[in-house]
Amino acid sequence: MTVNDQDNSLMALWGILGPYLRRQRSRVVALAGLVIAGIAIYLINPLIIRRFIDQAEAGRPVATLLGAAGLYLAIAIVQQGVIVLTAWVGERASWSATNALRADLALHCLRLDMSFHKQKTPGELIERIDGDVNALGVFLSDFFLQLVSNLLLVLGILAVLWWEDWRFGLIVTLVVALAAVYVQRLRPLSTRRWARVRAASASFYSFLEERVSGREDLLPNGAALYTLRQMQRRLRALFLAWRSAEIVNAAIVSTPNLSFGLAMAGAYALGDSLFADGAVTLGTIYLVFSYVDLINDRSWRLVDEIHHLQESQASIGHIAELLRQRSRLADAGAGDLPAGPLTLAFDDVTFQYEDDTTPVLHDIRFTLPAGSVLGLLGRTGSGKSTLIGLIFRLTEATAGRVRLGGMDVRDVPLRALRGRIGMVTQQVQLFGASLRDNLTLFDPDVPDERLIAALNELGLDSWFAGLPQGLDTPLQPGGSGLSAGEAQLIAFARVFLRDPDLVILDEASSRLDPATEQLLERAVTRLLAGRTAVIIAHRLATVEHADQILLLEQGRVLEQGERARLAADSASAYGQLLRAGAGLADWELLDA
Ligand code: ATP
Ligand code: MG
Repeated sequence: MTVNDQDNSLMALWGILGPYLRRQRSRVVALAGLVIAGIAIYLINPLIIRRFIDQAEAGRPVATLLGAAGLYLAIAIVQQGVIVLTAWVGERASWSATNALRADLALHCLRLDMSFHKQKTPGELIERIDGDVNALGVFLSDFFLQLVSNLLLVLGILAVLWWEDWRFGLIVTLVVALAAVYVQRLRPLSTRRWARVRAASASFYSFLEERVSGREDLLPNGAALYTLRQMQRRLRALFLAWRSAEIVNAAIVSTPNLSFGLAMAGAYALGDSLFADGAVTLGTIYLVFSYVDLINDRSWRLVDEIHHLQESQASIGHIAELLRQRSRLADAGAGDLPAGPLTLAFDDVTFQYEDDTTPVLHDIRFTLPAGSVLGLLGRTGSGKSTLIGLIFRLTEATAGRVRLGGMDVRDVPLRALRGRIGMVTQQVQLFGASLRDNLTLFDPDVPDERLIAALNELGLDSWFAGLPQGLDTPLQPGGSGLSAGEAQLIAFARVFLRDPDLVILDEASSRLDPATEQLLERAVTRLLAGRTAVIIAHRLATVEHADQILLLEQGRVLEQGERARLAADSASAYGQLLRAGAGLADWELLDA
C-alpha cells in the first residue's frame, strides 16, 4: 500500500463515516476539548515534579514542597475524570455513528435485487454489516482517538523539549522520526495480512451459517463429520491468516522499544555532561527522562493498536464496495395502482438469468382478469418461481413487460407494488417469538381482535383453540416444533392480514397431510375470495378450483386457457393429465 492508497482509504473512511459524525457535532467537539485537556495534563505533570525536585534540592521550606505535592495530587484526580469522560463521550459518539451506519447498510442490502442476494450468503452479509462496521467502531473509539491524542501529545512534548534545551529536542525528535519511518515502512506488510484475516473470517461465518441452517438435511444424511472436517479447514485457514498477521504486528510493535533505548542512552549522555557543566538542573533531567518515557509508552500503544487501522482499512474497502452495489432494479416509478383486485398480464415476456446463455422464460403471454385464479403448472425447473419473481420485481424481464392493474410494474414504486401482493412460499420463515408477533411480523399496532378475526375467517378457529397459550404461544425460530402445515397456516394468516389484492401461493400446500390440507383448502378459498391469485402447484388437485390454467414447459407456455374448457378438451395436455389421475409422475404424458 502506498502513501497514496492510505490517503485514499482515509478519504474513503471519511466518506463513509463523515456524514454520521457530522450528525453528532456536539459530541465530537466535546471530545476534542477533552482530548486537549488530557494532553495538557500529561504535559504539566512532569513539570510540577521537576519544580518539586529543584525546590527540594534548593532546600525550600516543607510548606512550598507540600504545595507542589498537593497540586500534583489535584491534577491526578482531574486526570482520572478526564480519562473516564473521554472514554464515555468517545464510545457514545462511535457507537451512535456506527449503529446508524449498520442500520443504513442493512437497509441498503434489503433494497438490492435478488441477483445480489443469491450471490451473498446471510453469513457474509452479517460479517459486512456487523463485523466490518464493528472494526470501524473500534477504529474510531480506540485507535483514532489514541492516534490523534498521542500524536498531539508527542508534538507537545517535543515542543517543550526544544523549548527547554534544543539538544534534548533534537535527539528525541530524531529518534521519533526514525521510529515513525520504520513503522510506516512495515505497515503495508500488515495491512495485506489483516485483509486476509477478514476474508477468511467472512468465509468461515458464511460456511457456518449455511451448514447450521441446513442441519436438518445434513444430519440424517450422515454428513456431519464431513461438515466438521470442512469447518476445521476453514478454521485452520483463519488461524493461519490470524497468526501471520499477529506475527507481523508483533514485529512492528517491538520497533519503538529499540529506538527508545537509543533515545534514553542519548539523553542520558547529554544530560550527564550538561548537569556536570551546571547547564541544567536535576529536575530538568528528570523532566527529559519522564517525557521520553511517556513518548515510548505512547508510541508502543499506538503501534500495538495499529492493527485496528489495518483491520479498518480492510473493512472500509468491504463496506465501500457494498455501498457501491446498486440494485439493478430502478425504483423510479411513481404510478398508482388502481384500487381493488388487480388484472395480471404478461406481454411477451422473456427472461434470462444474467450469467446464463439461454432464457429461462420465453415469450410468456397471458392475461388474468381481476379477481380470477390462475393455476400455474409445470414440472420442476420449468420456470414457475421465476415467473412469480417477475411480478414482484425480484428480477426484471429481459424483454416484454409485466402489467399489474394495467400498469407496467416498473412504473410503480417497489414498496407500493409489493404492498399489494401477498405471497406464501414452500419455505415459511418463522421467528422465535409469539404467534402474535409471527402473524403481525412484529407490528405492535395490530389489535388482537383483528388477528383472531383473521384466523376465524380463514377457518383456523379450531386449530387456534388448540394452542396452549393462544396468541402468546411461543414459536421456535425456523418453525421447529411446528409442522410444515402449521407453519403454512400461519403464513396464510399473515398474508390475509395484509389484505393484498394479488395473492401468490408457490406450492403452498405441497407438504401437508390430508386433514391439514382440507383445513388449508378452506383457508385458501376464503383468502382468495375477491382477489386475483396465482397458485403454483405440482399436484392437479391443488388447482382444482382455479379459473384458468397455465402450463409451462421448459420456460414456454405449453397450454393456457380456462380450466373448465381445458378439462373437457380431449386434446388438452391438462385434460389428459387430469384424466390420467395424474400426479407429478405423469408429466411423462406430456412428452408423448
Ligand atoms: P420447481 O417446481 O422445482 O420450484 P420452478 O418451475 O419454480 O421449479 P424455477 O425456480 O423458476 O423453476 O427455475 C427455472 C430455471 O431457472 C431452472 O432451470 C433453474 O435452474 C434456473 N434458475 C433458477 N434460479 C436461477 C438463478 N438464480 N440463476 C440461474 N439460473 C436459475
Ligand atoms: Mg419453484
